[in-house]
Amino acid sequence: MELSKLVRPNILKLKPYSSARDEFKGEASVYLDANENPLNAPYNRYPDPLQRALKQIVAQQKGVETDQLFFGNGSDEPIDLVFRVFCEPGVDNVVAIDPTYGMYEVSAEINNVSYRKVGLRSDFSLDAQALLDAVDANTKVIFLCSPNNPTGNALDPNAIRQILNVFPGIVVLDEAYIDFSAQPGFLSQLNDFPRLIILQTFSKAWGLAAVRLGMAFAQVDIIRLFNKVKYPYNINVLTQEFVANELKNPNRTREWVAYLLEQRNHLTNGLKKLPLVKYIHPTDANFVLVQVEQATEVYKKLVDQGVIVRNRSHIHLCMDCLRITVGTQEENDALLDALKNL
Ligand SMILES: *Cc1c(COP(=O)(O)O)cnc(C)c1O
Repeated sequence: MELSKLVRPNILKLKPYSSARDEFKGEASVYLDANENPLNAPYNRYPDPLQRALKQIVAQQKGVETDQLFFGNGSDEPIDLVFRVFCEPGVDNVVAIDPTYGMYEVSAEINNVSYRKVGLRSDFSLDAQALLDAVDANTKVIFLCSPNNPTGNALDPNAIRQILNVFPGIVVLDEAYIDFSAQPGFLSQLNDFPRLIILQTFSKAWGLAAVRLGMAFAQVDIIRLFNKVKYPYNINVLTQEFVANELKNPNRTREWVAYLLEQRNHLTNGLKKLPLVKYIHPTDANFVLVQVEQATEVYKKLVDQGVIVRNRSHIHLCMDCLRITVGTQEENDALLDALKNL
């Protein structure tokens, strides 16, 4: 299907805001075009609206072209843009796995777009056919998340590929936790799927949640639509420069991931020994979903001891489950001690 048939007509027609920095991109000695204060350099100047310097570094590390990359204020921004670009409020719908990350549904509701949940199987595996069966003529987007939150498992790449091959609309694949997975993810196959949008983030493996920088990878025609609709200066100069500097140290991130995977084992092994733990779901992420006896009671008693986990016991297929983030060895031991002493 042509991309233009998937895009909201008003967005297709939209003539985007053209900033001073869009109109003149070269180097000059006197800038009198943007009504900036000439004092207080360098923070007096508007930042690059397309974050070119940072994109060059990230695109190279990720093995994509710079124009296949979009930066947002966290992953939240590209998630919202997917709705604003593709989904006509009150008319179109999206299909998503259930359970999954809560932001897709919140964003759908904010944009008045109907959100169709299709359950994962009871082992949290992806039933591709069930998702495809939920699609109708107004389904613009399918949301997948792998490794999935809150279940922790990576989805079967063959089932993901089945959806990519059959569904004619946009497929969003959220890979926020891909650095913790043994699976490679779909970034190397980006060019095989013209309607695939992959989301990644600096909030998890890179340890930069406070900075708010998310990435979307897709073909140029989709990235262009995002750039057209986003706020002109969505990523501030502090973020652009700070992250460019952090990226000089990819080895540190790899070491962190290795440490956290080690700690994931340590935590899992400790949990296995506790009688109140009924089941530890297999995980490909930096957290574990654990079924316990009386999850809400356990949750409250942990809070009393100053240890906070996420109570997911009210969520579809997650009865009596707590989601526990892998912390430092000290933090993981504090949790295990607290659970022993309930
Ligand atoms: C944590 C998380 C993100 C990251 O969101 P940011 O807005 O980039 O911090 C994205 N997707 C999922 C599924 C997550 O769990």
